[in-house]
Amino acid sequence: MSSDNNRLQLPLTSDLIINGEEGKATGGQVFNRENPADTRQVATVAAQGSVEDVRAAIDAARDAFDQNVENWIYNYKLREQVLFRTAQLIRENADRLSRVVSLEVGMPMRQAVPHVAAAADIFEFYAGLAGKLYGESFTLPNGSMINLVKEPIGVVGMITPWNFPLTQTARKVAPALAVGCTVVVKPASYTPAASYELVKLMHQTAIPAGVLNLVSGPGSVIGAEIVTSSKVDKISFTGETLTGKGIAAQAAKEVKRISLELGGKAPYVVFDDADVDAASRAAIFGMFRNAGQACGATTRLLVQEGIHDRFLSAVVDLARKIEVGDPSQQSTDMGPLISSTQERVVQEYIKFGQDAFELVTGGNKLHGDVYDHGYYVEPTIFDHVDNSSKLSQEEIFGPVVAVTTFQDEEEAIHLANDTDFGLVAGVWSADYPRAMRVARRIRAGTVWIWDNYAQPVEGIWGGYKQSGIGRELGYHGLDDFIEIKQIFTDGTGLAMKPPYGQVIKD
Ligand code: NAP
Repeated sequence: MSSDNNRLQLPLTSDLIINGEEGKATGGQVFNRENPADTRQVATVAAQGSVEDVRAAIDAARDAFDQNVENWIYNYKLREQVLFRTAQLIRENADRLSRVVSLEVGMPMRQAVPHVAAAADIFEFYAGLAGKLYGESFTLPNGSMINLVKEPIGVVGMITPWNFPLTQTARKVAPALAVGCTVVVKPASYTPAASYELVKLMHQTAIPAGVLNLVSGPGSVIGAEIVTSSKVDKISFTGETLTGKGIAAQAAKEVKRISLELGGKAPYVVFDDADVDAASRAAIFGMFRNAGQACGATTRLLVQEGIHDRFLSAVVDLARKIEVGDPSQQSTDMGPLISSTQERVVQEYIKFGQDAFELVTGGNKLHGDVYDHGYYVEPTIFDHVDNSSKLSQEEIFGPVVAVTTFQDEEEAIHLANDTDFGLVAGVWSADYPRAMRVARRIRAGTVWIWDNYAQPVEGIWGGYKQSGIGRELGYHGLDDFIEIKQIFTDGTGLAMKPPYGQVIKD
């Protein structure tokens, strides 16, 4: 395969980072991550942490927090410096980081480069907030004072997915560190090096030992230990809804705080008066970025009857021009799927769609040249799909899209909301009051009008319904990592205060 991956000297290695020290797993166990674009290559040889390793990481984070290492909890200047320097280091190392992400995820370089830049933006944004965690103060009529102070929640266990490994990690690590938490990261096993390279870079800053730890290894072992450990105060999880439900059930046993960023099945509502050129381009971006392996991917095109033919033909024309291939090449628009399992799952959905609905474009696994050694599937669109079918209800996590027509606004809203998920949605209409009305009634954490998959760090990200609990990004992204404490100070100076009379007679 002609590839630029040789600039990375494969295989990459990724180790554990515990209490400021890099090291191999206890017992020296490793696992291999293949290159999904060319499975003859091993992309990464990663340390496979043990229960002992993750316990050591949790202990390091616990000690760093409980002992307030280097005044971490109160020294917002230090936290600000660490986060700003991280943003700088990400930018200085952007070429390498983009290649690592592209290699492990199979993400085209034209997507990996902005992905890395977005991670730097996130660190910069939260660096700016580290010194702005203002509390509130209130004086009661009797002179007593209430101070509400924001405190870090404590030790945070972060369990991350593979599809956007740097931004997913950044969205958790940056706000958690900004408020003074300490952290153990468990990266997805498909992308160990991406997270490792980020955490390693962060150890070139002034970050105190123990504040940020990383342990790779199986979710069922490392992730499970983080979730069950009584030394971890909070779990911040991004991944499949099913995995999230299991984590939530476990965390509930200790009333452990959780935030969950889970799956999606985004509707994209196109009214008759929509700008077809703009709406079709935006749709394609949401449908096939990262081969549709995105929680917010556009997966259900809900199209009003009058525009159906024109809109679908514009979308199909664009879909057919997508160049599927080696993600390391600048010309590639869509890379492979993440794994053989995912390829099989996607093909099963395609088979189901072919039997039940009308295949408009795609539907095939690609063969020949680069395709024979990777998980390459064509951009695929089905028309006249029944919204209650599994093609429209289940998260496929691949380049497969269902088109369903509607007659009027009420039906569009009904179809958009007729799903267990509620992460994101899109609305296209030239009639702004209508677009706004529909946006307000769709039950999703983000609704885009006249755009798709815009994720400014200043905004928020998070789901309604089974798409999750909590919000990442923006100012609200801090809330997931904060406890609010009330400190009440008497202002009366009375030894016998009026309420005490309820218990004391004199
Ligand atoms: P996943 O299979 O649920 O895995 C996510 C993480 O959980 C991985 O690190 C995994 O480790 C770990 N894990 C697995 N089983 C676990 C267990 N029993 N206890 C603790 N941790 C466990 O999800 P994925 O395939 O990586 O990611 C794709 C999913 O993430 C999709 O559903 C997508 O919609 C969702 N997602 C949501 C958002 C959002 O913001 N809402 C963003 C991105 C992705 P291993 O890798 O070792 O299995």
